[in-house]
Amino acid sequence: MNDTCSAPDCGNLRPQHQFVCVNCVHLLKQDLDAATWLLTDLDTTISRQDAIVPPGARGRSAETALPFKWAASEALWVLGNVVTTWARLIVESSGYRPADDHTALGAVRFLRAHADVLCLRDDAGDAIAELEAAVKDALRAVDHPTDVRIYLGKCGDITGQRGCPGRVYALPAKEHGQCERCGEQHLTRERRALMLRAMANQHLTAQEISTMLAAVGVQVSVDQIQNGGRKRRFTAVGKDPHGKRSYRVGDVLREFLGPDWLAA
Ligand SMILES: [Zn+2]
Ligand SMILES: [Zn+2]
Repeated sequence: MNDTCSAPDCGNLRPQHQFVCVNCVHLLKQDLDAATWLLTDLDTTISRQDAIVPPGARGRSAETALPFKWAASEALWVLGNVVTTWARLIVESSGYRPADDHTALGAVRFLRAHADVLCLRDDAGDAIAELEAAVKDALRAVDHPTDVRIYLGKCGDITGQRGCPGRVYALPAKEHGQCERCGEQHLTRERRALMLRAMANQHLTAQEISTMLAAVGVQVSVDQIQNGGRKRRFTAVGKDPHGKRSYRVGDVLREFLGPDWLAA
C-alpha cells in the first residue's frame, strides 16, 4: 500500500481517503480559480479584438487575427479541453449530474464544486498536473506579469500564415530571439518593429494597448496613455462597448516611442 501523493513530482504523504496530498488539493483549487478567471474574462477580451491587416497586405483575404489573440486562443482551447475531459470523467464514473452549462466554463465550475470528488480518483494526480500545465500556458499566452520574455510573433511571418508556425521569444536586452519550434534566431529589434507596425491601425483602450505593448517588451502604463489622451497629445478615436475611450495604437506609439522603434 503506497500512501504518497499521486501527483507527478510531489511525493508528500497523503491522507488515506484520497489519492493526493493536502497541498496538491490546495493547488488544484487555485488552478481551478485561475481557469475560471481565464475562461471568463479573457475569452471576452480576446473575442472583442478586431482583425488586423498585416503591413503590405490588401483585401479581406489578408485579414488575420493578432498573434497574441492566436496564442491566447490556442492556450484557452487546451485549457477548455482539459477541464471538460475531467468533468466528463467524473460524471461518468460517479454519476454526478453534469453542469447545465455545456461549455468549458460550465465544466470548470463543476470541477471546482466537485474538487474533493476528483481527489478520490486514483488518477487525481494526472488531473492536477494537466490542469497546472494548461493554466500556466494560458497565463503565459496572455502575458502574465511574471513572464519576462518578449513575444516576437510566429517564426515564418509574425501572424503564422507562412513558414514555421513556432513562436519566437526573446529575453529582455537580448539582441536575438529564438523560435520555440525550429530554433531559428531572429533580430529582436526588427521583429518588434514589425509587431508594432502590425498593431498601428488598431483602435484599442488604454488597458488593451498597455497589455499588448508589455507582451512585446514595451512598458507604457495605462495612466500614461490616458494622460496623453487628456492632454490631447493624441485624440481618442471612439469608445469600446463598455464606454472606455479607445485610441489608435499608432498615435500612442508615435507619442511614446518615436519613429526609431517603428522603422527598425
Ligand atoms: Zn501532492
Ligand atoms: Zn521556427
